Amino acid sequence: MTAETFEFQVEARQLLQMMVHSIYSNKDVFLRELVSNASDALDKLRIEALRDDTLGADVSDLHIEIEADKDARTLTIRDNGIGMSRDEVVGLIGTIAKSGTAEFLKKLKEARQAGDPDKAAAAEGLIGQFGVGFYSAFMVADEVTLLTRRAGESTGTRWTSTGEGTYTIETVDDAPQGTSVTLRLKPVDNDNRLFDYTSPWKIKEIVKRYSDFITWPIRLITTAG
Ligand code: ADP
Ligand code: MG
Repeated sequence: MTAETFEFQVEARQLLQMMVHSIYSNKDVFLRELVSNASDALDKLRIEALRDDTLGADVSDLHIEIEADKDARTLTIRDNGIGMSRDEVVGLIGTIAKSGTAEFLKKLKEARQAGDPDKAAAAEGLIGQFGVGFYSAFMVADEVTLLTRRAGESTGTRWTSTGEGTYTIETVDDAPQGTSVTLRLKPVDNDNRLFDYTSPWKIKEIVKRYSDFITWPIRLITTAG
């Protein structure tokens, strides 16, 4: 199946620009955002499976996986939750329809221009609330690939972007149910506070700090480098 290329909405592009250029000082939160999306997807599947017994989804081992590959320098956050249809991928990931986003961008810009570190920190704290979570992956990755298949559907969708204005979408026949988000990590840069996110210690530390309240099992898989 050939890949189709799409352009991000103007607001989405602005937000991505900010993520790509790492305006946000605490980059570790990308993992919190992706784990939180995975957890939401598992909640949604459990609810939908209870409501619809024709869904045909396996709900016996709902969990989140974080897989780090040191050699490939990739980090994958995977869930076997509800997944997304092709239209949902385009609608949810490619556009920012949420009203809060413009407000968020405005506040962050103002705070930064004013040079007030407290205000800037407060604005940055809003990052999750305004639903800009997924894009935070671009703080640490120069390419993000999302592979997903919605429960009850037979084909999956692959979404890929470098965060620079366009994304590609392609239909895939053999996607597992749920969603995986693979980050091609930017080079380690300690001055710029970009750590080695393939390090099991670093991953465990971030998960403990930000995702301790997640009720679904989180499994860490590391490929020895
Ligand atoms: P928010 O979580 O605040 O809605 P995000 O940017 O984190 O904002 O995610 C946007 C949307 O993309 C989510 O609301 C959800 O519908 C969809 N999404 C993201 N990650 C996943 C996932 N792992 N599984 C299913 N849907 C997802
Ligand atoms: Mg989210």
